[in-house]
Amino acid sequence: MTNTRYAGIIDNDIVDGVDGISVSFWTQGCPFHCPGCHNKETWDYNGGKKLPLNYVEIVYNKLIANNITRNLSILGGEPLCPENLDIVHYLCEYIKTRLPNTKIILWTGYTLHQLQIRAKKDIRLQDLLKKYLDIIIDGPYKQELRDLRLKLRGSSNQNIWKRHTTRILKRTVWQKIKEEDI
Ligand code: SF4
Repeated sequence: MTNTRYAGIIDNDIVDGVDGISVSFWTQGCPFHCPGCHNKETWDYNGGKKLPLNYVEIVYNKLIANNITRNLSILGGEPLCPENLDIVHYLCEYIKTRLPNTKIILWTGYTLHQLQIRAKKDIRLQDLLKKYLDIIIDGPYKQELRDLRLKLRGSSNQNIWKRHTTRILKRTVWQKIKEEDI
């Protein structure tokens, strides 16, 4: 069942993102419960706040406010769990259709490989992986691999993936990169 809650929005976030300012959208609810998680208040699917019906327009207006270029960061909670997938898919579709140059960065506890397997049977995940998401930070947080030097990742098992489209065959390729390569 689709969640009706979200954790919050940060208008001008300079921490959770790449290349300057982001609007950060935080989903509510997470199935992973990683030991040492810093966002435990986002675990409960009934926590957070009621998601406004016009949340995509709210995010859109924040992205274009004052003619400043912003990226969209999507975090959680778990943005790509079944309960939050419709919310995230609709948001990304709405934003990429109207602001195609907006970079969308998403943090998930699933690995990219797990998402690619799920995507074989889920058109929403196919859209996200092929058209909408530009950067994915994947994998669960592992307390024993915590590394404060990593800018976008909490632990070193997590990876940063950047989407490319091959020039001739127009295939989507996800390339593993480091923070300094963004
Ligand atoms: S996936 Fe993220 S939000 Fe969920 S428990 Fe792990 S660190 Fe916390």
